[in-house]
Amino acid sequence: MTCYDLHSHSIASDGSLSPTALVERAVEQGVDVLALTDHDGTEGIAEAKSTAQQLPITLIPGVEISVTWKNKTIHILGLNIDESNQTLQQGLAQMRDVRVERAQLIAERLSKAGIHGALEGAQEFASDVMLGRVHFAQFLVKNGYAKDVNEVFKKYLVRNKPGYVPGTWASLEDTVNWINAAGGQALIAHPARYKLTATKLRYLTTEFKELGGVGLEVVSGRQHPEEVKTLARLAEKMDMYASCGSDFHSPENEWVELGKLSALPVNTQPIWQLWQ
Ligand code: AMP
Ligand code: MN
Ligand code: MN
Ligand code: MN
Repeated sequence: MTCYDLHSHSIASDGSLSPTALVERAVEQGVDVLALTDHDGTEGIAEAKSTAQQLPITLIPGVEISVTWKNKTIHILGLNIDESNQTLQQGLAQMRDVRVERAQLIAERLSKAGIHGALEGAQEFASDVMLGRVHFAQFLVKNGYAKDVNEVFKKYLVRNKPGYVPGTWASLEDTVNWINAAGGQALIAHPARYKLTATKLRYLTTEFKELGGVGLEVVSGRQHPEEVKTLARLAEKMDMYASCGSDFHSPENEWVELGKLSALPVNTQPIWQLWQ
């Protein structure tokens, strides 16, 4: 059986491995097909591709784009994209500006809470292409404000906490258009993680499909089997494709490993049917 893992991160966003180390680890873990899906950027793909060429693994170029939909942040995966596409890259360049502005606001808010130098501090943990909340978390842990990244998020970086700044991300429509322009497939990442009611999730999925989205990430790392079943039924009912991905970020998170995923339920149409 071919092992697919279609959602992972490198140091080109908020993962901790270089693209090369990520691909090597995927091979060690028995992954046959790996998608690199860094947040809002594709800078890791060239390196991942060239490493994959030397090894028994297929690299699918991907991206995970941050979207603001009805005041909520939703993540949309673009799989099998042509990362050199100009429409996509212009969109991602806008996202980078949004991230820089948000990072400045996060640093200002932390500064008001008595924590200074957060912008420079977070930058030390980030590549020069993407600055995210994880990098602020790493800075805050290093300076003793919390014991680990999870605790920092709870204490500082989520709604109603001193370092929280809601991102004003891309629209769902633009995001789907960028991915489709780049010849890729757009899927809703980890649909169970947004705490949407069943009705609202169906509403999101319907709108997404009308805009040109084609699938749902039915299997995600650390997911409850009941959620998998519910999402598989939704994909089936909506006549959409299904994908599976670990959302691997770092070997330090012992709960999530590359390729360690339950199989897609039999009533789903795997997204890779489109790639054969
Ligand atoms: P950003 O896109 O910069 O707002 O950061 C979102 C990223 O932060 C996610 O992709 C995760 O990698 C990470 N993240 C979000 N919530 C948590 C949490 N509670 N604990 C640890 N990491 C988190
Ligand atoms: Mn992340
Ligand atoms: Mn995500
Ligand atoms: Mn992810």
